[in-house]
Amino acid sequence: MHVRKAAVYHRAMAPFVYKYDAETVHIRLQTERGDIERVRLVHGDPYEWDAENPEDLDWNFDPAKAKFWKTTMTEMEYSGTDGVLDYWFVSIKPPNRRVRYGFELTSGEEVKYYTERGFYDEKPVDHPGYYFSVPYLNAIDVFDAPEWVKDTVWYQIFPDRFANGDPSNDPEGTEVWGGTPRYTNMFGGDFQGVIDKVGYLRELGVTGIYFCPVFLAPSNHKYDTLDYFKLDPQFGTEEKFREMIDVLHENGIKVLLDAVFNHVSKDHPYFKDVVERGEASPYKDWFHLKSLPVTQEPVPNYEVFAFEANMPKLNTENPEVIDYLLSVGRHWIEKFDIDGWRLDVASEIDHAFWRAFRTAVKTAKPDAYIVGECWTDSQEWLLGDQFDAIMNYLITESFLQFFAVRKTKPSDFVHDLSRNLFTNMQGVNEVTFNLVGSHDTPRALNRADGDKDRLRLLLLALLTFSGTPVLYYGDEVGLDGGQDPDNRRCMPWDETQDRDLFDFTRKLIALRREHRALANDGDISFPYVDDEKNVYAMKREGDGTYYVCFNNSGDDVEFPVLEGARGLDLLTGEHVTEVNLPAYSGTIIQVIERND
Ligand code: CA
Repeated sequence: MHVRKAAVYHRAMAPFVYKYDAETVHIRLQTERGDIERVRLVHGDPYEWDAENPEDLDWNFDPAKAKFWKTTMTEMEYSGTDGVLDYWFVSIKPPNRRVRYGFELTSGEEVKYYTERGFYDEKPVDHPGYYFSVPYLNAIDVFDAPEWVKDTVWYQIFPDRFANGDPSNDPEGTEVWGGTPRYTNMFGGDFQGVIDKVGYLRELGVTGIYFCPVFLAPSNHKYDTLDYFKLDPQFGTEEKFREMIDVLHENGIKVLLDAVFNHVSKDHPYFKDVVERGEASPYKDWFHLKSLPVTQEPVPNYEVFAFEANMPKLNTENPEVIDYLLSVGRHWIEKFDIDGWRLDVASEIDHAFWRAFRTAVKTAKPDAYIVGECWTDSQEWLLGDQFDAIMNYLITESFLQFFAVRKTKPSDFVHDLSRNLFTNMQGVNEVTFNLVGSHDTPRALNRADGDKDRLRLLLLALLTFSGTPVLYYGDEVGLDGGQDPDNRRCMPWDETQDRDLFDFTRKLIALRREHRALANDGDISFPYVDDEKNVYAMKREGDGTYYVCFNNSGDDVEFPVLEGARGLDLLTGEHVTEVNLPAYSGTIIQVIERND
């Protein structure tokens, strides 16, 4: 065995090293899977020197004259693999809020020191300049998402389809509740409907609502905004909106609104003005025009979202546009006390705009939550100066491929989860918006071919994982639907609701609240993964030890997780000494006592 240097990787930047809080630095290292048995962090204060260092007397320097940089060794913890790489982790609190560090790697008989200047056989101690550096732990640089988000379970509402509480505001042509959703039809859902159903939301136990857009727009989805300062009258008045927010807040439920700042509708008055007046329009620099007059033929002579001629892209580098959109961000917080923003097509807008947006929003409400719609690795937005979170579609498909589609092996799935956790800082992982379906994807139940056992396993996995889980309205009562527009069916309020599924979901949400190790106060590991049996167990360890067991096979399976211990099955309430799960089922076992 020897250290495989090519796979040893660290850079002095997130997510390899970051400030977790004002006192704590997290450091991670990746190595080839199975190659390294032990990693120790070599670290010290950059300004602290020893007169002599007996440990290194035999190396390089005349001990009578030498001064050595003072270092400490701290064990790093093995914290998982993605199947190719192993990940190592350590949390330290440098006493003077600054640190220089490197790594001591042990593979068999071989020991190497990995520093910013490369590999060494002996630990370099003549100068800290060899080492990686966190020059200073300035508190303002800490990734600082709102504390409440870690404890929130979200519920996504598509406003036209959740509940119709006031037929008098129904737009012309509103169809009968429960009809077939099409691209353009409306069903009359509104703010009063949400107020009427607050008891239902409370019973379910969700503590945040993410509303798809509610601003004036011609479509049923409202992503084609006409006026960011006006609510669409089909949802209700400003007074009704305020009443709804008050009612939700009184019931411990936060409110997240959705905004599209990337583009507007072609019918937005500012774009229309450019179309009509061309060069004379004060808004001509609000868009990315290639020439004038504006034309859509043969292709638009202005930049658009995707290839949608009807969605002209805003020029978010124009100071007037910036002022306008930032005032939107502030308006709904200052006037209506909303708790945050979900931002559509966020990844196509420049970073400078998002930095300004964060400052504006957090000035208006310091604990507002900002979630960007990014579908890919989003490190650039998640450094603490732009978003608090992204919609974590990176693992959505992993969840679905394993539980719903049943195409992947347990080891592939847990490797995906581990890779996702190591893609971002811990602070990001605690508030990332985890979902298994949304208004933009087929419903989870649809991906599972209507099989509710698979949906239950998905919900169990989502609600016992770190991050801030999001349920798409209706998933909890078995609402089905394929790709858009079918994924936007009306919420059933009659006997077609699957109440067993509702109770199961409610139970999981309650357990997540009661046992915080199942949310964001517990380490995650996968002590039992068996590809042949198609099962795995996830261990959550914090204030208590828990095994969340998943049987994704058609056979009964025994899980060897409780050897020598007694456990409590949190779903059945029964005490157990062994864990046996029937086909396609899962449960949560809390370790009660060890017998050894
Ligand atoms: Ca209505």
